[in-house]
Amino acid sequence: MLSWRYVCRFCKIDCPFSRICELYTLLQNIRVVLVNTSHPGNIGGAARAMKNMGLSRLVLVQPLDFPAVDATARASGADDVLDNALVVDSLEEALVGCSLAIGTSARDRSIPWPLLDPRECGAKVVEQAGAGEEIALVFGREHAGLTNEELQRCHFHVHIPSNPDFSSLNLAAAVQVLSYEVRMAWLAAQGTPTKVEKFEANSLRSGELATMDEMELFYEHLEKTLVEIGFLDPEKPKHLMPRLRRLYGRSSVNRSEMSILRGILTETQKVARGEPHKRKD
Ligand code: SAH
Repeated sequence: MLSWRYVCRFCKIDCPFSRICELYTLLQNIRVVLVNTSHPGNIGGAARAMKNMGLSRLVLVQPLDFPAVDATARASGADDVLDNALVVDSLEEALVGCSLAIGTSARDRSIPWPLLDPRECGAKVVEQAGAGEEIALVFGREHAGLTNEELQRCHFHVHIPSNPDFSSLNLAAAVQVLSYEVRMAWLAAQGTPTKVEKFEANSLRSGELATMDEMELFYEHLEKTLVEIGFLDPEKPKHLMPRLRRLYGRSSVNRSEMSILRGILTETQKVARGEPHKRKD
């Protein structure tokens, strides 16, 4: 048997796609719990934030007004999240089956508790959800947050580092921040490169980077041109060339960029020598 095959925790079968399948399905192990929400619009806003980030399981503990037109309006198409939302009577019920509950709070509480920042929270949630555990992210009431008793039911607390003089986010905005961190951690777990990494990987594709000998020819050309236009005094070069080497050296210049640079130098020389050049006006 091939060593990289193992039984998928979700499909319960041994298949070569198990790892991919697990990664794709782990978001389903995460539930967002909203406690005693008073404004149905916030429930809709939270559903939209969740769906944007790939989360789908919403649990509502005694919402004041749900289902509601405002919830549907603010969900802006995340109706499936609302339709599948579970309405329960207590936080205890909302947490059934969970092995990790993370409570959120807009302010410091008197009881010291293990704290995570939103990024650490995303990483922890993805790690444990990926191991097949059920996770709950618990959010409080608009006006009063979670009670100390409710927070003490949670293993960790998360505070979104906001302005200390105005620390309380809108409930749906808080759901958005944590769902986003979960998504980022989930993308990282798949090894999905960031935009910068993709860009760098593209410009660093083998054979595309200018070679050291090409760079040397460029530096020679650059030095000659700078002398010709009077920018570099060969008697007093100071540290101009080493500085320029350092600048270009950290730029990962590729072949097409190199020909642009060489072209600029050639045209500069022509202008400096009064020879015919590209722009004649
Ligand atoms: N007046 C309440 C704030 C409630 S805001 C209080 O002082 O606690 C509604 C919910 O949004 C909070 O219970 C929490 O779940 C979430 N929330 C808002 N701001 C947050 C922050 N800075 N960090 C973490 N959660 C936050």
